[in-house]
Amino acid sequence: MTVNLLDFDAEGLAGFCMEIGEKPFRARQLLRWIHQSGEADFSNMSDLAKVLREKLATTAVVEPPRVISDHIAADGTRKWLLSVGAGNGIEMVFIPESNRGTLCISSQVGCALACTFCSTGKQGFNRNLTVAEIIGQLWWANKALREESGIEYALEPESPVNKREVIRSPGRSRIISNVVFMGMGEPLANFENVATALNLMLDDNAYGLSRRRVTVSTSGLVPAMDRLRERCPVALAVSLHAPNDALRDQLVPINRKYPIKELLAACQRYLQSAPRDFITFEYVMLDGVNDSVSHARELVQLVQDTPCKFNLIPFNPFPDSGYKRSSPEAVRIFRDVLMQAGLVTTVRKTRGDDIAAACGQLAGQVLDKTRRVQRTGHEIMQAAR
Ligand code: SAH
Ligand code: SF4
Repeated sequence: MTVNLLDFDAEGLAGFCMEIGEKPFRARQLLRWIHQSGEADFSNMSDLAKVLREKLATTAVVEPPRVISDHIAADGTRKWLLSVGAGNGIEMVFIPESNRGTLCISSQVGCALACTFCSTGKQGFNRNLTVAEIIGQLWWANKALREESGIEYALEPESPVNKREVIRSPGRSRIISNVVFMGMGEPLANFENVATALNLMLDDNAYGLSRRRVTVSTSGLVPAMDRLRERCPVALAVSLHAPNDALRDQLVPINRKYPIKELLAACQRYLQSAPRDFITFEYVMLDGVNDSVSHARELVQLVQDTPCKFNLIPFNPFPDSGYKRSSPEAVRIFRDVLMQAGLVTTVRKTRGDDIAAACGQLAGQVLDKTRRVQRTGHEIMQAAR
């Protein structure tokens, strides 16, 4: 049976090398070839012995998800649709800005948590992505963007120290400087695979990103937030969306299981290990639902003991959502209330609108295996365990 080497982090690759009778240090060479050079063809891995290359060709592959489509929006935002088999597709988005390049990736095919304003949630859940499918998004985007911008390795791959310098030099190879888990799915509901992919993102022999530049966004799976804190504390964004349980229960159904008080307590615990000294709260602005001045004031009270920043996200519409985007005026007033209370607040620019590449519009193609419409709230909670 062939194995996909994209499924392995450093530890996994070392185990694989042992299994095929190779020294563990080969894992480091493989990591560099696969993730730094974006090489999928073993015969090109010139510093590996020919016998090993031949052995790899018969036992392993480097296989990211296949790209089905590729769109660039007027503002430079780019969206790829990737096939993950059986008619399912996932999306990833690259957002270039003057000082950074952010890749927004998916963690599941669909999502079981059924937030009412979310296009992915509306589509139901099919399955978790594998490690190869998660890291494959970064692998693919990194390679594609680098090749297109004409950035080549200036140095021989055999000189790893120098090579790493090239990768690190800003503006040259670092096209993707930040990764956010804000595409399809709830990353903490696919914990093990996401954690292994995070290891690769942070590994100096792979992508070498710093913890503060990798953000996991969660709707609030409290036990998994604690596990992430222990295993791999990267930057954390929490989708709050409401200032009280009554409203959050409606918008983010997982709140019925992990209400706001427990969520904020988990945020406090997370902060003890976090690479940043604040939590980012995401707050989707829904016209007439959660965007009044009194909601803003309630929010200020709610988070008074939690070091945090706010990211207000104007709702991105999709067909039959039943919601409308808050007016720019309502967003501005809401932001001002938070700012006057001393909370750093940004309003997310709606990027890539013309190609439906904005948050919550990442629909992909999901063949719902759960027939959500017939499921009870209880079953949804069970699925989120
Ligand atoms: N499941 C995770 C991460 C993916 S969603 C989470 O919920 O945090 C990334 C962000 O987009 C979340 O804050 C989510 O609430 C927000 N979002 C979902 N649908 C949206 C929509 N239609 N418009 C704007 N933001 C949306
Ligand atoms: Fe899932 Fe996040 Fe969408 Fe909620 S907002 S349904 S958790 S992807």
